[in-house]
Amino acid sequence: MARELPSVDLKTAAAPVAEGLVAEGPAADEAGGTLTIDLTAITANWRALMRRALPAECAAVIKADAYGCGIERVAPALEKAGCTTFFVADLSEARRLRHVTQSAAVYVLNGLLPGTAASFAAINVRPVIGSLVELAEWDAFVSSHNWRGGAALHVDTGMNRLGVTPNEAAAIASRIRAENHGITLLMSHLVAAQVPDHPLNDKQLKLFREIRVLYRGIASSIANSSGIFLGPNAHCDMVRPGAALFGVNPTPGKNNPMRATIDLRGKVVGVRSVQRNESVGYDAGWIAKRPTKVAVVAVGYADGYLRAASASDEKPGAQVILAGKPCPIAGRVSMDLLTIDITDLADGAVKRGDEAILIGDEIALDDFAAHARTIAYEVLTSLGRRYHRLYRVS
Ligand SMILES: *Cc1c(COP(=O)(O)O)cnc(C)c1O
Repeated sequence: MARELPSVDLKTAAAPVAEGLVAEGPAADEAGGTLTIDLTAITANWRALMRRALPAECAAVIKADAYGCGIERVAPALEKAGCTTFFVADLSEARRLRHVTQSAAVYVLNGLLPGTAASFAAINVRPVIGSLVELAEWDAFVSSHNWRGGAALHVDTGMNRLGVTPNEAAAIASRIRAENHGITLLMSHLVAAQVPDHPLNDKQLKLFREIRVLYRGIASSIANSSGIFLGPNAHCDMVRPGAALFGVNPTPGKNNPMRATIDLRGKVVGVRSVQRNESVGYDAGWIAKRPTKVAVVAVGYADGYLRAASASDEKPGAQVILAGKPCPIAGRVSMDLLTIDITDLADGAVKRGDEAILIGDEIALDDFAAHARTIAYEVLTSLGRRYHRLYRVS
């Protein structure tokens, strides 16, 4: 007969942790890697953006589980730093946020899905109204329930994604102001703020300014992280940084003004020798040009170490730091594993149980993303939940 297994709390398997660190997820000795998230750097980044945007209010966009960093940890830290307005993508994120903050204003960027108005009211969060249909449905709910919880009106100034058109916004402006629809924020979203001289920036800012005049008395917001660096013209009454809070460079091509917030390490499960002309990994796309030593690391694309960072004979991949030295990936990134060429390291320099630095130190998040032919946003939101997580709280 099968023996009954002891019940374990898989989510919070306890591990002794050092001063100023809080652990979460699988235990350190059982996980393939460790993701350290520096909450003090995230709040320092928020403060720096807040100061830059003064006198505008600085909100925080923490959609997609706070860009992969954990809503339940990030939101309270930001609230403690002084942040009083948050943006998430959907109701389930809003609900998680409400569990950790009762007083903050919460906006739901994806707007009002059919039949969900009562769910917004139930947890006191605000939809970002993205079309006249949504506005009509919200209005019907608001007037029949006498709900005063507020909502944002999104105006599309060029993204062609969410928002009422500028003409629609102009047409309904007097009605919204006269009838007190409970619109608490007028917002739009920049298409190319990370390219300061992109012509769309001026075009969008000008269009938004014209609409704001019609909505005088209602707070307005257009700037994301990069938008904050376009200058005061883009700040309006509130700025909405997301990525920059987490250390993504809001000014690509220039020095990163933000502090790095994540450090990602993968555990070496073994070291092996590969003979000349043998291949490493799936598809045999990487051939050893010499007798080669390979370290196998227990992190893969299922952990957000994107497959596009793979190496082949045609194209080098990303690098990791092992024994203090940058070492190239050998072959494809697989689902759960990475293979690293450590031939140039001294014999015995790497052994089972060692840690490879995947992101952190000399390997900047944005550089890794570039190697994987994507942006740091995608890397962060792909990180996954298999790591031992450490949160630096002081
Ligand atoms: C994601 C998002 C933001 C934050 O953008 P970042 O580039 O991450 O700063 C702001 N506003 C809207 C509407 C968004 O969808």
